[in-house]
Amino acid sequence: MILPINIYSDDILRLKAKPLKGVDSGIEELVVSMFESMHNASGIGLAAPQVGRSIRLLVLDLSCLKNYEHEKPMVVINPHILSVRGYNEMEEGCLSVPGVQGDVVRPAVITLKYRDEHFKERIGEFSGMVARALQHEIDHLDGTLFVDRMEKRDRKKIQKELESLASGLVDTKYPVVARELVTISKHS
Ligand code: ZN
Repeated sequence: MILPINIYSDDILRLKAKPLKGVDSGIEELVVSMFESMHNASGIGLAAPQVGRSIRLLVLDLSCLKNYEHEKPMVVINPHILSVRGYNEMEEGCLSVPGVQGDVVRPAVITLKYRDEHFKERIGEFSGMVARALQHEIDHLDGTLFVDRMEKRDRKKIQKELESLASGLVDTKYPVVARELVTISKHS
């Protein structure tokens, strides 16, 4: 089922999401819907709060990116970054902040402890776009958006776009959670 995505000024995007105690059929269904919603919106990552669930769960699929064709989709539950190495700057975007891109500095390599779709504990080291996407999505679980991490000077440049999103003016090709004010959404 394609789920509508919560947009920028929505309160749920600012909450600290709760850890999961296990995986039941409801969570399995949610994971399927999250992949479907993410692919429908041409995204490479999606965190549960973006579809209205304040729980520590995210999905990732980078296989549409050049050089990541063989990257397997990931389900990440209760992630915990154990250590980081190096820093780099990359341009980011977000399905919850449509039409906005910006450079963000983050650690280049992370060691992550998490639970997979079977709630099995795993520890892995990630670099490149995988490390980048994981950190962006983990931020969502803590109520942080990539625009919060942009340099002040860069953020000023997108202030108008953010204000417009906050006022409910949203133009996306994927369904979004309707706001009280005007919502322009071309559901395809
Ligand atoms: Zn995002």
